[in-house]
Amino acid sequence: MLRFLRPKDKEKTDRAVEKTRKAWFGRVTTMLRGARLDESLWDDLEEILISADTGVATTQVLLGRVRQRVIDEGADHTESVLAFLKDEMVAILAAAEADGAKTDGSEQNPLVLLVVGVNGVGKTTSIAKLTQLYKKEGKKVILGAADTFRAAAIEQLQSWGHRLDADVIAHRPDADPGAVAFDTLQAAKARGADVVIIDTAGRLHTKVNLMEEIKKIQRVLARRKEGRNQRVLLALDATTGQNGLHQAHAFVDALSCDGAILAKLDGTAKGGVVVAIAYELKLPVLYIGTGEQPDDFAAFDPREFVDALFGES
Ligand code: GDP
Repeated sequence: MLRFLRPKDKEKTDRAVEKTRKAWFGRVTTMLRGARLDESLWDDLEEILISADTGVATTQVLLGRVRQRVIDEGADHTESVLAFLKDEMVAILAAAEADGAKTDGSEQNPLVLLVVGVNGVGKTTSIAKLTQLYKKEGKKVILGAADTFRAAAIEQLQSWGHRLDADVIAHRPDADPGAVAFDTLQAAKARGADVVIIDTAGRLHTKVNLMEEIKKIQRVLARRKEGRNQRVLLALDATTGQNGLHQAHAFVDALSCDGAILAKLDGTAKGGVVVAIAYELKLPVLYIGTGEQPDDFAAFDPREFVDALFGES
């Protein structure tokens, strides 16, 4: 039985959202200390949230809920607005986690993780990070290089496999990704692997073909008993903000994604996108990328994230 490994790391989360905190959410904290609760305050809040890439729709829903609570609870102090805002953000993030609750179900070995996402978002690096996470727990990890479209992708995965001491199953460039996935599963069975991580292609300009290719990999895997404990993780690049969200829709609409890995959160001041991912895609963010090294990875925790965003009060 193998569940998702989700080690929390407050310090890494704090560091990863530093830019976003300094540019935007820290300002909200300062602004809501001692300000007057008037209409201009709501306008300022809206502007800051949208600037931090929380998204127009998500921002409006979020502030709508906060305003309602101010009315319902007769709050007359901006400190209450801050508390409500944080609570409602956590609620949106936690609701997405609850929707994706099946992700934590305990099932049989191996755990098969299909990592999908557009080229360049940080997919391969995130696979390396997942590998490191499971290896540290003493799990045997095997990687499948099913992005056969780019020779460089195969080499990159092999190089991570070598560095992290994990077997990589690869075919020639242009080989059938389904065949790579099948062989990876065979190898996993023969070698007693606990976790199988499959890299997939990410050429979005051939969207329909790409989704069909990924679905085919899923079918090939599901035909075998060892391939049934499948999870699809969507890798997203935090630095691409609302654009990335748009691309993510293509995956979420076509595939049943179990959760997101938000890479490069450390590289953006627009970390509000996390809330938009949860609200608009109904997708739980499971992990955040906090740097370029295999250890620069943390499990996402809604309350920890929101506290880190606004800074310690
Ligand atoms: P892929 O094409 O989606 O497989 O993307 P890669 O894994 O090759 O990553 C693209 C670039 O983003 C590389 O330079 C990575 O080092 C960098 N990268 C990936 N994840 C993170 C992260 O969490 N933080 C930072 N700062 N850089 C990252």
